[in-house]
Amino acid sequence: MTFKHIPRYRPLQIVANLTRALQMVWRIAARWTVFNTVLVLLQGFLPLATLYLVKRVVDFVTSNITAPDKSAVFEQALFWIILAGAVALLSALTRALGEYAAEAQSLYVTDAIADILHEQSIAVDLRYYEDPSYYDTLHRAQKEAPFRPTKIVNGLIQLAQNSISLLGILVLLISFGGWTASLLILVGLPGVTLRMMHSKRLYTFDKNQTEKERRANFYHNVLVDVPFAKEVRLFNLGELFKDRYHQLRTEIRNGKLSLGARRVRSELMAQTLVTLALFGALAWFAWRALNGTLSLGDVLVYFLGFQGGLNFLQGLLRALAGLYEDNLFLTNLYHFLDLQPAIQSPDNPQVVPQPMQNGLSFEQVSFHYPGRSQPALQDINIRIAPGEVIALVGENGSGKTTLVKLLCRLYDPTQGTIKADHIDIRDFNPSEWRKQIGITFQDFARYAMTVRENIWLGNPENDPTLELVTRAAERAGADEFIRNLPKGYETMLGHWFFQGQELSGGEWQKIALARNFWREANILVLDEPTSALDAIAEEKLFQAFRTVLAKRTGILISHRFSTVQMADCIYVLDNGQIIESGTHAELLANKGHYAYLYQSQAQYYQMED
Ligand code: ADP
Repeated sequence: MTFKHIPRYRPLQIVANLTRALQMVWRIAARWTVFNTVLVLLQGFLPLATLYLVKRVVDFVTSNITAPDKSAVFEQALFWIILAGAVALLSALTRALGEYAAEAQSLYVTDAIADILHEQSIAVDLRYYEDPSYYDTLHRAQKEAPFRPTKIVNGLIQLAQNSISLLGILVLLISFGGWTASLLILVGLPGVTLRMMHSKRLYTFDKNQTEKERRANFYHNVLVDVPFAKEVRLFNLGELFKDRYHQLRTEIRNGKLSLGARRVRSELMAQTLVTLALFGALAWFAWRALNGTLSLGDVLVYFLGFQGGLNFLQGLLRALAGLYEDNLFLTNLYHFLDLQPAIQSPDNPQVVPQPMQNGLSFEQVSFHYPGRSQPALQDINIRIAPGEVIALVGENGSGKTTLVKLLCRLYDPTQGTIKADHIDIRDFNPSEWRKQIGITFQDFARYAMTVRENIWLGNPENDPTLELVTRAAERAGADEFIRNLPKGYETMLGHWFFQGQELSGGEWQKIALARNFWREANILVLDEPTSALDAIAEEKLFQAFRTVLAKRTGILISHRFSTVQMADCIYVLDNGQIIESGTHAELLANKGHYAYLYQSQAQYYQMED
């Protein structure tokens, strides 16, 4: 699926999009939506009732202006005044309650949509995370999704409310003379056309802006986030990133302001037309009153009616234009939600063998990253028996990590199959299969949580008792330094939160290893596990690794030959292909690429000695 999505403006599509938003809101906050709707509709009726009652008062007073018993007249007038006041009060009450209901509805919907976005973020394949247009889509969805569906519901309610009020007023005006009603409609139309044109411009502008906004966010992060703080100071990058951020934000702001200015110009035009119509109508009413064809009450009610009618009409058209705009922006959310993960569970998944009896095999596996012309892996054949440890060796970019990603089903091979006990791993439920694999990637995660939680996250299904967590930490050689932390296993890690403790690269790596060992998985993968470890820690780790492995399968990726030597079989990768395999001794005897790499490293150490 491509991300370059252009929304279509077909009416059926618009209706389908709006219906989907309504269903979403209904599922999330049905009761608040009903409450809100009732209140808003009431607000549509009540102004009409007030208008009618005020007219009664004015007419009553003018017709009795010459009556001798003023207090009796006033008493009767008072009845209508109190009634009008009560209706106005009710109107105020419904408004206040309506605001609360609308806020509650919107808060529920916003939070639930964040949940939906998070769910989809977890569900999509890893490849989306390696595609910039994915981030554009996600960014747009995140920006718009939380409030657009609520806005649609409120837009529809507004539409209903304004329609009811407008209908009442139109009936009133038509009884006075059809032309005022037509005038009302006529002067309202330019406003809505201009507004819809603005919505379209805004949407296109916003879409083209996404990459710029994300770039500005990145520059902002460089300036404020921990991972960049050292280099920013050392290389004196602060001003450079500050300027770049400033420049981008200026471009974005100027774009928005010029759009805003265009909008103000068209609004002004529309409003001038409306005002002219309104006061033209007043002149006409005044003329008729002077000629005795209208009572003062009539003048009042028609003027207020015409003014109210214009407001309602504008409200109605604004709601329509708003719905049009919401629909445009919602396509971003739908587009994100409709991304289908390619890696899914088959309908009848096979049971994952545990432990494996025959082991793992890569059979003629090839893989292309999307959008790359060169294959990352080509015709890979590897067999690993249970209890065996293999090592992958090769220069940077030779395909070692990619092979592991295929094993974890973060991607599927473009050709060939990976099998566990002769079953294609695509026949398993991916999450059941992944439970079999414990992996420490080179770019492992650092969670701003306690040490205990950092280890426990390797398998949250297990209860993190201190005894078990300590055992995993010991195997990773982490227990000793953890005990020296201010609160031991309860120490908060990282700089994010209060009393957080920053660790060295090697210490973080040991925590990541402990997380992996905590998992007690049947296949253990270590991708450059010792890159940040010192020699003694490395030695200890491999002693532990053998113990942890017992009858399990191990895959090691390393540049250090001291690490690699322990493997039962070493595979040498070059440009995505296996060019050699065998034990350390066999490969040295071969005098091939492995022997060459080994000699270069050995030479380096000898020179150091
Ligand atoms: P190694 O682990 O041996 O250093 P990798 O498996 O990470 O190598 O990379 C193998 C090749 O695939 C490299 O040419 C790299 O540029 C490419 N590659 C790695 N990850 C991606 C990705 N997410 N998208 C596109 N190409 C990638």
